[in-house]
Amino acid sequence: MKVALIGVGQAGGKLAEALSRDPLAADSVVSSLAINSARADLSSIGLDTLLIGAERVNGHGVGGDNELGATVMQEDANEVVDAVSGRVGSDCEAIIITAGLGGGTGSGGAPVLAHELKRVYDVPVYVLGVLPGRDEGALYQRNAGRSLKTLAREADATILVDNDAWRQAGESMDEGYAAVNEKIAQRVGLLLAAGEFDAGSVAAESVVDSSEVINTLREGSLAAIGYASAESSPDADANLNTITSVARNALLTGTSLPDATTAESGLLIVAGQADRISRKGVEAARTWLEDELGSMQVRGGDYPLDSERLAALVLLGGVERSERVQAFLDRASEASVAEETPDATESLVNDDLDDLF
Ligand code: GDP
Repeated sequence: MKVALIGVGQAGGKLAEALSRDPLAADSVVSSLAINSARADLSSIGLDTLLIGAERVNGHGVGGDNELGATVMQEDANEVVDAVSGRVGSDCEAIIITAGLGGGTGSGGAPVLAHELKRVYDVPVYVLGVLPGRDEGALYQRNAGRSLKTLAREADATILVDNDAWRQAGESMDEGYAAVNEKIAQRVGLLLAAGEFDAGSVAAESVVDSSEVINTLREGSLAAIGYASAESSPDADANLNTITSVARNALLTGTSLPDATTAESGLLIVAGQADRISRKGVEAARTWLEDELGSMQVRGGDYPLDSERLAALVLLGGVERSERVQAFLDRASEASVAEETPDATESLVNDDLDDLF
């Protein structure tokens, strides 16, 4: 699946960079651009860059002010759309915007950018959005809540990455970010590669194409992506249980949004050497996923990969009703109410998140 990749803000730029470097994504990411209002953050990104908001913030960034992030993106929208236009070729099947939702430039800028790009392009505009971890402060939670609410309206889908998803004890913040970025790059890299597989080149039993990715994401506004792999046997029949267990692990322990097991739709991709993939295993895994998600719309396919391991990639569409999203939204609206009305009883009132614009 050919995509143009646009990173907004610091986390957005780093995620776009990690994804564009992923070996599986190499043929799929046709172009990339990192946009920021902070000049210093752009200087360390190994992609083409565009500084926005220079007149207003003089290259110093917007701090944690995501309304200002939205404003600088809006004010420089023409320049941004011009810069993007050279990068969205006729072969492009989607645009992916990456952003941290808890900060300022990415949080405020990504929904505005999605809105502007949707006015210009027919291809879907997706956002890969990072949710702040539980320990990050109230401002991050509130910013992310408002950004998410606005993205739900503006983007075709937002694939959520929870910064708590793969946290390891003892890891520094930067090590943690780098690990999350790598894991996301691996998952999204495989998804894009699978969606572009040339069926003529190797015999894959059932091929995934980009329309299946798009149709899975069409079922809702929020999405998540999971992955797991395991050693396999040269004998396909012996891999039945391996396939069902990697599919389970992809959903239950390897997902970008832990506990997101309620979804409108799913896509299961089994990757590995074609002659190691047990058809019964793939069917059993798919049936299990349908039961687990409570959705009859679970698509599936293979991705031939020259590896002795077997892997499962799970894309979930429409996870807005899942527990994790609800818990995050509660946290974000509590942070919002606590800031605006110090009266403790008021903080029990829910759904107090305003849209950004
Ligand atoms: P911006 O530059 O104003 O858009 O702000 P940031 O991109 O720094 O957004 C801050 C949020 O992104 C916080 O919730 C951070 O935890 C998160 N964050 C910052 N850098 C990274 C990163 O490299 N990877 C991930 N996964 N999260 C990050």
